[in-house]
This record gives sequence, C-alpha cells and structure tokens, in this order.
Amino acid sequence: TAAVIDGKSIADDIRSRIGSEVRRMKESIGMVPGLGVIMVGQRKDSETYVRNKMMACEEVGIKSNVAHLPEHCTKDQLLKALSKFDVDPSVHGILVQLPLPQHLDERKIMDVLSPEKDVDGFHPINMGNLAMRGREPMFIPCTPKGCIELLLRSGVEIVGKKAAVIGRSNIVGLPASLLLQRHHATVSIVHAFTKNPEHITCEADIVVTAAGVPNLVRGNWLKPGAVVIDVGTNPVVDPSCERGYRLIGDVCYEEAVRVVSAITPVPGGVGPMTIAMLLSNTLDSAKRAYAFT
Ligand code: NAD
Repeated sequence: TAAVIDGKSIADDIRSRIGSEVRRMKESIGMVPGLGVIMVGQRKDSETYVRNKMMACEEVGIKSNVAHLPEHCTKDQLLKALSKFDVDPSVHGILVQLPLPQHLDERKIMDVLSPEKDVDGFHPINMGNLAMRGREPMFIPCTPKGCIELLLRSGVEIVGKKAAVIGRSNIVGLPASLLLQRHHATVSIVHAFTKNPEHITCEADIVVTAAGVPNLVRGNWLKPGAVVIDVGTNPVVDPSCERGYRLIGDVCYEEAVRVVSAITPVPGGVGPMTIAMLLSNTLDSAKRAYAFT
C-alpha cells in the first residue's frame, strides 16, 4: 500500500525551524515578524481559521494582530483597517480572511493591499509574477506552496513529470498548476466542465486535487505508482463524531492507497502545511523589510 505523506510532522518541522529563525532575528536586531489579520463578521469556520493562525504565530514568536470588523461594516471601514496595517512598519504580512460578506467586493479590497505585505499571495501583481517566466512573485499562495513542499520533502521528482491539477480556483488550483509548471512538470488542468476527467488523471504521475467534492477521485482515476496530494477538506455527516461531522478529502482514500505510491491523508496532510507556509511567508517578509539574512 501507499506511503502516507505526513503533513503534520513535516509542518511541525518547518514551524520549529521558523521559531529558531524568529529567535535569531530577535537576538540580532531586536525585531520580530508581525502579521495583521482582518476578519469581517462571525463565520464560525473563519473564526476557527483565524484563531488557529494566531496561535501558530504565537508559538513561533510572530506578533499577530487581528482587526475584527462587524458583518455590516462599510468598505471604507475595511479599507481603513487595511491601511492601518499597511503603514505600520511592525506589520510585515497582512491577510484578509476570506470569504468576505457579499456587500464587500473582494477584488477591490485585494487590489489596495500592498504586494509587499500580501503574505497570502493573492494580489494580482504577485499572482501575475507567479504566472510569468523570468519573474519572481514576492509571495506564493500558502496552500499550493505547501503542496509543492510536501512533494519536495517526500523526495518526489517533479521535473519532467505529468501532473494533473483538479480545480482551478484562484486560491488553490490555479496557483498550484502555475507552481508545478515552474518546477517543470507538464500540467493538465481538470475542472467542473472537463469531460472524462479520469482519462486525464489516470495518465498523471502527480495528482493535486482541490475540487471540494468528497470521494470524487476513485481508485481507477489514478495511475499505479502515482503520488496524490489531496487538498479537499469536505465535511461529511457522521453522528459518531462529537461535532456531528468529519472531514474527508476529494480522493476516495481506501481505493487510492491500493493504487498509488504515496498520498496525503485528510486531515493531517495539506491542512497543517498551509499555516506553516503562512508563517514562512511572514518571516520572509520581515527579513526582506529589515534586510536581515
Ligand atoms: P472552489 O470551490 O473555489 O474551487 C473548486 C474548483 O474545483 C473549481 O475550479 C471547479 O471547477 C472544480 N470542480 C468542482 N467540481 C468539480 C468536479 N466534479 N470535477 C472536477 N473539478 C471540479 O474551492 P477552493 O477554494 O479551491 O477549495 C477546494 C477544496 O480545497 C475545498 O474542499 C476546500 O475546503 C479545500 N481547501 C483546503 C485548504 C487547506 O489548507 N487544506 C485550503 C484551501 C482550500
């Protein structure tokens, strides 16, 4: 059966390395990285994500600040909170917890964020630089960056391999496909309009899935020996769980483990890497701001 790619332990390793870098920065220049988080409204899932991010910051010594705005705040209030972080030299990374309430236009908000503090990597300048050859984005979106890191740390060769990415969202699928190309894979993109997606995925040496559809990818969609990175995090009803639901991926795990050579579990695969990459992006940003090497 397949090797399980242990995202939790890889992420722990990265976090402890970040912790020592933050200490080294503090000891040599008396500064620490700072993260500003903007959260609008009270979505339960967003609150959990924000809390987890802040706890992770604290653990490695990154100073985090959250600006919590009410659900019905105006665009101007939100822009004001953003610009407060933007002009604050002790804040090196800013993230706006998405999704925003309907009345706020996500695109317009992201446009005013300084690309230098865009630790989520969602600003069009950073995304554009990620897409263009010969250019370097200041930040790479955390989840796809975590996927690549899992491949590299598991010793998976990417150069020259066939990769299939399922999903083309701005947050995961699109940047994952761009990153895999940067690593010289030949990339196919599968999305909701793709006909016979299994014909594409079954040729791929590497499959990254971010569709948000539980058990979409069956064992017969996969090439024997392939490596699977399952980004999907889908709640399914399970009365035997305390919360009444549990999380599963996009891949039918029980079938896939019999076919592939390595796979990430859900939970415990990509999820922990996303936060580790956020910390890493914030540290990199502070190092750049203080010219600290
Ligand atoms: P999204 O809904 O924005 O995008 C889904 C993409 O999948 C779309 O491009 C769509 O075309 C494609 N798709 C939908 N149904 C499909 C189908 N039947 N066949 C092929 N393609 C299909 O979602 P997202 O924000 O990219 O998130 C995707 C999944 O990843 C979700 O389960 C989400 O919870 C999870 N996620 C996990 C993390 C993490 O840190 N682990 C981070 C972000 C998202």
